[in-house]
Amino acid sequence: MTDPRATSSDASSARTPGVQAVIFDWGGTITPWHTVDVREQWQVFARGMGAIACPLNDTASAVLTAEDEAWRRGRTEGTSARLDDILQTAGLDPTHPATQAGLAAYREFWEPHTFTHPNIQQVWEWLRDNGIRVGVLSNTIWSRDYHRGIFERDGVLHLVDGDVYSSETPWVKPRPEIFLAAAAAVGADPSACVYVGDRSYEDVHGPQSVGMRAVWIPHSDIPADQQVSHEATPDAVAHEVTDVVDIVSAWAFGGTGDA
Ligand SMILES: [Mg+2]
Repeated sequence: MTDPRATSSDASSARTPGVQAVIFDWGGTITPWHTVDVREQWQVFARGMGAIACPLNDTASAVLTAEDEAWRRGRTEGTSARLDDILQTAGLDPTHPATQAGLAAYREFWEPHTFTHPNIQQVWEWLRDNGIRVGVLSNTIWSRDYHRGIFERDGVLHLVDGDVYSSETPWVKPRPEIFLAAAAAVGADPSACVYVGDRSYEDVHGPQSVGMRAVWIPHSDIPADQQVSHEATPDAVAHEVTDVVDIVSAWAFGGTGDA
């Protein structure tokens, strides 16, 4: 004789996944990891401004120093920064036409490093087809509009249910506040969220501090001066972004995925 309560419970669990949302890091996770020459980006910027508008090496050095300091404060104090803040710290007016020309060259330099991993779309479609929301949470100096423009260019913006960029908050990862903001953006309970990222301190220690499960993709060549001493053990390791499907499927439904 079948216990009707068990039947009801099974039917319910089949409809309601045990994971409400999966939230993704951007650089090295949604985009494949590239090692970018951080000095060259500002040399390109300075050349874009023009030799009359600025002394090339001094300008590149000033912006590089301001950016390094902004990221260092992020790692030590958990505070965010914006591209315009960094330019102003370096003594530049972000609205000046020469600065705008420099920024156009800077964005062109960055464009090859912004492309969405070709398998992200199938992972995000699998999640949404299975009733699991898709989120994005990035430590970034770039604006929401810029990031969403990248997703739109790559045909995946419609698959994002909620996104938070540190540039629009006071914090950076691994501050708990920014993970709670990301959970709120996708309308999920933090304990029912999974976070996926490539940096152990920011993307494993951070989400676990608010009760999220963390999936680590351990293949980015993170510069030594950007690493922070800490202890964290990921709930799972994904060697490919597509591995996220099987990992989340097991947590959400107790089975394996078919993406
Ligand atoms: Mg990353």
